[in-house]
Amino acid sequence: MYILSTSTVFTMDIRPTCTIIGAGIAGLLTADTLTRHGCKATILERARHVGGRMATRHAGGQSFDFGTRYLFGRSARFRTLLNTWHRAGLIAVWQPDLSEAELRRVHDSPVYMGIPEMMSVPKSLAAGLTIHLLKHVTAVRIANGAWSVETECGHFYMSQALVMTSPIPESLALLEAGRVALPTQLLTELRAVEYASCLALMVHLDGPSGLPSGGALALDGDPLSWIADHHLKGVSAHPGAVTMYAGPEFSKQMLHAPAEAVTQAMLRAARPLLQASVVSTQLHRWQYGHPVRTLQTSFMAALDDPPLILAGDAFGTGDCESAALSGIEAADYLHSTYCPSS
Ligand SMILES: Cc1cc2nc3c(=O)[nH]c(=O)nc-3n(C[C@H](O)[C@H](O)[C@H](O)COP(=O)(O)OP(=O)(O)OC[C@H]3O[C@@H](n4cnc5c(N)ncnc54)[C@H](O)[C@@H]3O)c2cc1C
Repeated sequence: MYILSTSTVFTMDIRPTCTIIGAGIAGLLTADTLTRHGCKATILERARHVGGRMATRHAGGQSFDFGTRYLFGRSARFRTLLNTWHRAGLIAVWQPDLSEAELRRVHDSPVYMGIPEMMSVPKSLAAGLTIHLLKHVTAVRIANGAWSVETECGHFYMSQALVMTSPIPESLALLEAGRVALPTQLLTELRAVEYASCLALMVHLDGPSGLPSGGALALDGDPLSWIADHHLKGVSAHPGAVTMYAGPEFSKQMLHAPAEAVTQAMLRAARPLLQASVVSTQLHRWQYGHPVRTLQTSFMAALDDPPLILAGDAFGTGDCESAALSGIEAADYLHSTYCPSS
């Protein structure tokens, strides 16, 4: 690729190139790490925002986190990142009422919320990276020994390496669409990954919710598993911004049900917990909410020539920590395997 330098002389950009599908925490940290290694990383993201499941929505003057609830770190490497984000004011220690199961999962880590919202971390990571939003990838192909990534709007992105951080079933569909065959053993392992869906209902109330001062309740059940008040958390400026998550069984059964039926069932379950009336609601359906059966490696090097890596929260413990480490370790692997001298 030729670029015009400031001295108007044509120079050749000889950096190794990598396309990354997805601007969630895994994709962002893959791109960030590759860029630090001197590679040219380009992220394609189908949504209009970065962050993936680290998601915040603004509506009716309120802010609602409606994906990742909190961050925590069991590994030294992720704790270092959390400390960096903490010092930068992107996250703050939070003390919601966690269930026994969640306390076990968090172990001895502090629990952090995003400041002022969960999307602050991905937004900060995105600064300085090359990211094309609203680019829905529809197929990935091998052409002349390189990757050709096709988007819905008919654009093609060529690169030497490809990292896919979309949920595994979606990545497999993109490979199939481009007639890219993976070794049978790897395909079997990838097909064994399973996700639980999660229905998230954002509720605008006409006053304070009445939830505990910590700002959240872990219910760990069905139909409701979690409910959080963004004003009590400090995310929303005004009282009355609540997000509630349905449990795994309810989410599975109602994933494709009419929004009105889902909304009414979730509000009925939440009524004893809320002291204000509902003004408006918005429903989000996470089909691939979080992996419930993961692979115990931090990423998968699926093809060598040209290199293909699958990464994201399907590798490891199925949360932001594993997604982040997957992205970083995939990038380190690509760099050390394919450009050790750069
Ligand atoms: C409701 C909910 C609550 C959660 N709570 C917690 C929690 O408290 N703590 C925790 O650690 N984890 C939590 N998680 C899990 C956590 O959010 C995820 O593990 C993590 O965000 C996954 O990051 P990722 O980068 O692997 O995937 P994602 O964030 O899903 O990123 C993948 C990206 O790929 C994009 N993409 C997919 N297909 C295409 C395509 N064809 N073309 C272009 N782009 C594409 C998507 O739009 C997305 O932005 C929660 C998840 C949910 C849904």
